[in-house]
Amino acid sequence: MELSGNLLSARRPTRQIHVGSVAVGGGAPISVQSMTTTKTADVEGTLAQVYELAAAGADIVRCTCNDEPAAEGLAQIVPRSPVPIVADIHFHHKMALAALDAGVHGLRLNPGNLRKEAEIKTVAREAKDRGVPIRIGVNAGSLDKELYERHGGVTPEALVASAQRELAYFADVGFEDVKISVKASSVALMIAAYRLASQTFDHPLHLGVTEAGPPPAGLLKGTAGIGTLLAEGIGDTIRYSLTADPVEEARAGRQLLESLGLRERKGLDLIACPSCGRAQVDVIAVAQAAQAALEHRNLPIQVAVMGCVVNGPGEARGADLGIAAGKEKGHLFIRGEIVRVVPEAEMVDSLVAEAERLVAEGVEARLAAADKSAAAEAEADRRALLEEGGSDPNASKTRIEMIRRRVEDDS
Ligand code: SF4
Repeated sequence: MELSGNLLSARRPTRQIHVGSVAVGGGAPISVQSMTTTKTADVEGTLAQVYELAAAGADIVRCTCNDEPAAEGLAQIVPRSPVPIVADIHFHHKMALAALDAGVHGLRLNPGNLRKEAEIKTVAREAKDRGVPIRIGVNAGSLDKELYERHGGVTPEALVASAQRELAYFADVGFEDVKISVKASSVALMIAAYRLASQTFDHPLHLGVTEAGPPPAGLLKGTAGIGTLLAEGIGDTIRYSLTADPVEEARAGRQLLESLGLRERKGLDLIACPSCGRAQVDVIAVAQAAQAALEHRNLPIQVAVMGCVVNGPGEARGADLGIAAGKEKGHLFIRGEIVRVVPEAEMVDSLVAEAERLVAEGVEARLAAADKSAAAEAEADRRALLEEGGSDPNASKTRIEMIRRRVEDDS
């Protein structure tokens, strides 16, 4: 079932900036970001990864600009990239200026290690002249020492103060084309810091849990932090930081937004029942086979794999398409209505074929093309399974009666 963004807290209003062609903040769709892991000087390798990230759902991609060959690489990458490119800058303000020369669509500056006021202002002036936005990318792990001491450690207030100081430098040169991040590897600290940032600034916020680690823990941390804030209406662009192929970051970002109803579905959403004693097939194996067969087809639908026809079609009636097992058959259903019954061995193939037709022809046409005897056949299978399993397949009622009898006998 599709969730609606309206069910979440209203998005907090922010200013809007543009990273190349992508609007961020001010009610624009929440964008997904990721970062390349290649050497930026490796132009072809980096571009190949940028294309992979864009295909997986990234709207904006960041590349490190840590030396002159990287800046020269950016000059060749930016014009050939399918999405806006942001240069990631640490320590050397000259690399920010070189990235601007390369034509990047955005800069990320780390105020924890780029601290000289005059240099920061020089970068801001150049960015202003070129109409390029900057992200003030505060990171708990590289917080300015003076702020650390003043706030007694890495606190939400210290992270926000770091962004405030950078903003003040920018304001001095009339530069306001800014988004802000206050990332931490602690999910609780990150949530508190972004809540404070959203009360302090009206600039768009870039959300992330930094150094979250490899999946699945990294995914869980990212989802806990980013998902919590998005549900509160905080956040304009997001990035998962995973120790993994960055394609997983882009995919996770996109899936999180789709699952919250904050972006339109672009790809497959495969749901499956958790399986139970009623299951008539190995649900995990069928779901994995369906996922493998469907995921690269880019079909923007929700598909359900359900272990039994007793409960499956009803429980997954919100899915566009589904299949439920029973009596050595697969019962294909569209929006909960049985449209065809197929041999169990053909479940996955039938599901894939119907998914493609559904996307090409639409729900109404495929419901109209349903096998008229399928619903009756499925109902007969359902009833037969209910009778075999009884309405209490786990014998709970029998057990409760046994317990009651024992208690009565003892009293
Ligand atoms: S759909 Fe059937 S097999 Fe799957 S969890 Fe529900 S009752 Fe169990």
